[in-house]
Amino acid sequence: MADPVVPSSGVLSPLGLDAVRLSPGFWGDRVALNREVTIAHCQEWEEREGWIGNFRGERPRRGREFSDSEIYKLLEAMAWADHPGLPALAETVAQAQEGDGYLNTRWSGSRYTDFEWGHELYCYGHLIQAGVARLRVHGEDLLTQVAVRAADHVCRRFMEGTRTCGHPVIEMALVELYRATGTERYLEMARRFVDRRGLPALADIPFGRAYYQDDLPVRQAQVFRGHAVRALYLASGVVDVAVETGDEELLKAVEAQWERTVARRTHLTGGMGSRHADESFGEDHELPPDRAYNETCASIASIMLSHRLLLATGDARYADLAERTLYNMLATGVALDGRSFFYANPLQVRVPAVPLEGVNHAPEGGLRSPWFDVSCCPNNIARTMASLPAYVATSSDDGIQIHHLTPSEIRHGRLAVRVETGYPWTGSVRVRVLEGGPGGITLRVPAWASDATIAHVPASSPGAPLPDGPVVRPAPPGYVSVEGPWRAGDEIRLELPMAPRWTFPDRRIDALRGSAAVERGPLVYCAESVADEPPLGDLTARVEPPVEHEVDGVVELEVAAALGSGGEGGWPYTPVAGGRAGGPDVTLRLVPYHRWGNRGPATMRVWLPI
Ligand SMILES: [Zn+2]
Repeated sequence: MADPVVPSSGVLSPLGLDAVRLSPGFWGDRVALNREVTIAHCQEWEEREGWIGNFRGERPRRGREFSDSEIYKLLEAMAWADHPGLPALAETVAQAQEGDGYLNTRWSGSRYTDFEWGHELYCYGHLIQAGVARLRVHGEDLLTQVAVRAADHVCRRFMEGTRTCGHPVIEMALVELYRATGTERYLEMARRFVDRRGLPALADIPFGRAYYQDDLPVRQAQVFRGHAVRALYLASGVVDVAVETGDEELLKAVEAQWERTVARRTHLTGGMGSRHADESFGEDHELPPDRAYNETCASIASIMLSHRLLLATGDARYADLAERTLYNMLATGVALDGRSFFYANPLQVRVPAVPLEGVNHAPEGGLRSPWFDVSCCPNNIARTMASLPAYVATSSDDGIQIHHLTPSEIRHGRLAVRVETGYPWTGSVRVRVLEGGPGGITLRVPAWASDATIAHVPASSPGAPLPDGPVVRPAPPGYVSVEGPWRAGDEIRLELPMAPRWTFPDRRIDALRGSAAVERGPLVYCAESVADEPPLGDLTARVEPPVEHEVDGVVELEVAAALGSGGEGGWPYTPVAGGRAGGPDVTLRLVPYHRWGNRGPATMRVWLPI
């Protein structure tokens, strides 16, 4: 099945990219843009920066020690998109593979001398994921052979011993290769890598072993900690190992860590990772808006993890977090033209960034950049967008489940349905049956959608209501099912309430105390100020119902606020508590967070002082 995650057991099963076709709409448009623009953009930059030339033996070698992995992420994107550029790039990569399967353009000649920072197994992980993607979409070819040779080399070299890689990802890659080929040693190798971690398997470093989750065995951890991408990739691999080995205790451990992390270490946008210094989570409730790091890759890793937990358990909360993260992080990470990217995703930017023409040497999140010294995020976006249909819907013995309400056509068995909606701008969703068949149709009602309703409109009453009209019933958050059998023309109508809502932070999040944010549907909103618009540093918003208005198909919001008077004291601390900003009343325009930074350098804030 053409899908990034195909577990052999679980409450829900993936449907595969062939069974879910995205139509024009919020995600369909972005997936098309990714295929047409972003993939070529990434390849051009990897060629320009010499990272592809490394595989041709061009010297001096260029790029960071893990730059090979960027070419592999791009190959994975090409594989899911069935992109015509794949065979030639795979040919280039294959040139650098050594006779025993070893493949790394940085460490050839000094193999496995730096497990902490060398990223050799990390690079294999991405190579294997690309190979699995190619195998599932296309079948065996040069790329899949290169990936299998590398995996076999890893199993021979590391099946015995105590070492693992400073950067996880090979765990989930090996499990997926096992799922795709049935070769059990790949699963066993992944299981051993998971079990070794925290014994410890790596040297201590100034950031501490928690940086790479080697401070304690994964079963004993209470929460995700350390480098956010590493922690979430590892957790994804642990879920895969737990599912394939039937290890309930291990699965429960990750579920508990996910729960505590979501409760205490996650930003409103779904972003994870507060600290810039070591790209790490930070402590419980350490969620500063201006110093939020929120690497785009960490959000992608979070989506990967939530999807795995959803498949294993069928619990709607995993799809809820995935939705929040998709709309407010993945969609934010790439510009509307598909050619520039955010690495860090803060929730407040105080000073407009200076535009850059070339490579951005810093991950700061003030303006999207065409490329970075470390360009994990653009390539990660490319492969995630290319496989996005895999996240939309699943199947089970009960029928199909639609987790993400976006224009699409979904096929399972004899049943084929079309999802028609303007979501996330409107809350009306129609699921039309194109080809009838047995089985239920289940829709996810997001956690924020209280007072949603659902109606089943049989084919015999197209358009005009029945004498009494179709039966409309409440659809509480979670999953709501309508049972078949279905005939062509049958329809389900889901209505989600889309009124904007104010959201307040837990009082323990010190950095957010005294402020509030506005959400509408799955979207987080922010105030953005470009050029000569009023600055956003000093304002007080009024918690009154925001006013909606549509601009070019996008719902923007307005809230009332007072601006600061600009008075300057010599010392910013006083014996009396500060009041509201004393300046003029203004109407503050809020835009969806994912759209900010598309009008040029700007200041921005999600959390508004109230
Ligand atoms: Zn990244």
